[in-house]
Amino acid sequence: EIAIARRPAAIKPSPSMAARALVLQLRAEGRDIVDFTLGEPDFDTPAHITEAAFAAARRGETRYTAPAGTKALRDAIAAKFARENGLDVPADRVVVGSGAKQLIATAFAATIDDGDEVIVPAPYWVSYPDMAVMNGGVPVFVDCAETNGFKLTPAQLRGAITPRTKWLVLNSPNNPSGAVYSRAEMAALAAVLADHPQVLVMTDEIYEHFIYDGATMDSFAAVAPALADRTLTINGVSKAYAMTGWRIGYATGPAALVRTIVNLISQSTSCPSAVSQAAAVAALTGEQGMVREANALFQARRDRIVALLNEIPGITCRTPGGAFYVYPNVGGLLGRRAPDGTVLRSDADVGLFLLREAGVAVVDGSSYGLSPYIRISFATSMDVIEEGCARIRRACESLA
Ligand code: PLP
Repeated sequence: EIAIARRPAAIKPSPSMAARALVLQLRAEGRDIVDFTLGEPDFDTPAHITEAAFAAARRGETRYTAPAGTKALRDAIAAKFARENGLDVPADRVVVGSGAKQLIATAFAATIDDGDEVIVPAPYWVSYPDMAVMNGGVPVFVDCAETNGFKLTPAQLRGAITPRTKWLVLNSPNNPSGAVYSRAEMAALAAVLADHPQVLVMTDEIYEHFIYDGATMDSFAAVAPALADRTLTINGVSKAYAMTGWRIGYATGPAALVRTIVNLISQSTSCPSAVSQAAAVAALTGEQGMVREANALFQARRDRIVALLNEIPGITCRTPGGAFYVYPNVGGLLGRRAPDGTVLRSDADVGLFLLREAGVAVVDGSSYGLSPYIRISFATSMDVIEEGCARIRRACESLA
């Protein structure tokens, strides 16, 4: 047995990726599975973006770039921050990463000393706590009640801060709950942070374009300019432009932090993929119509899935303001008995039951730190939404 070091030994594989792997395995065994686990748009990267990568490769842009990213891409990102987020940042305070994920992990590596605390409102994207642990940090979870729209309150934030607090992680629109913080809610959190100058804010805005009912996206750094010197804004092209496999994310924040992140990248991955960076320039500077079209499509899917789920006895589903997930409450199914005699005691049991009885794959809420819920992705076709919800309904009606 190889002796794995203490920190990585404590790291779990991503539950959504594990759920996806199980779907693929069951399908390979011949089972018909409706997959509601997907964390990415279900359409292809637009052609003009893919073509830009081919063109870059043909021009010979196939070498290492600067570790912070190409000048063309950092300029495009700075222009995007100004245009869409009201953030006035020079291109030299922008860093490009191999996905937003790399930047989040690297930001923690750059700042966390052993025992430093990272406040993670639950439900949360599964990677934040593990990334904190990987770097010697201690995640501090705060349960955000469904009755408050799964959002952190100023009083909860105040109660969670200690002298060891290094980061507050905000993710709006949120994966998995779809919660979107309003300007006023962000400002109220910022007011609490004003009294605690040691706390940095990581604002993960990767779902910014998936926001519904005409609501506007507010970027935390624009709402709270007084905290700009300790706010790291995280974003990327993965979700907005259906580019998850290209692995390009970006961030902006205080100069010293950005510089350290760039140093760590230069000593680990050297730089993000050159052709992917060329594709990201095309995404950010090109025609943006597809972003609006995707938004309208996702809003229609959201409305349909919320309506279908709320017809199912035992399930209640809030309408999420953003992202492409619903986080229905399955508390009404707990304590019920499946046809095979098993009693559903947790949301994880509900997930297994739906997979077994209905052939529907979801991710259990306990993986996201808040039960009793399941996460259902609606980044899938209307037909799949109809079929999957019909199956869930039949399975739930079979419970005693
Ligand atoms: N942040 C959140 C909240 C996410 O859900 C995801 C992907 O699922 C990411 C970041 C990672 O995005 P990227 O593909 O840019 O690494």
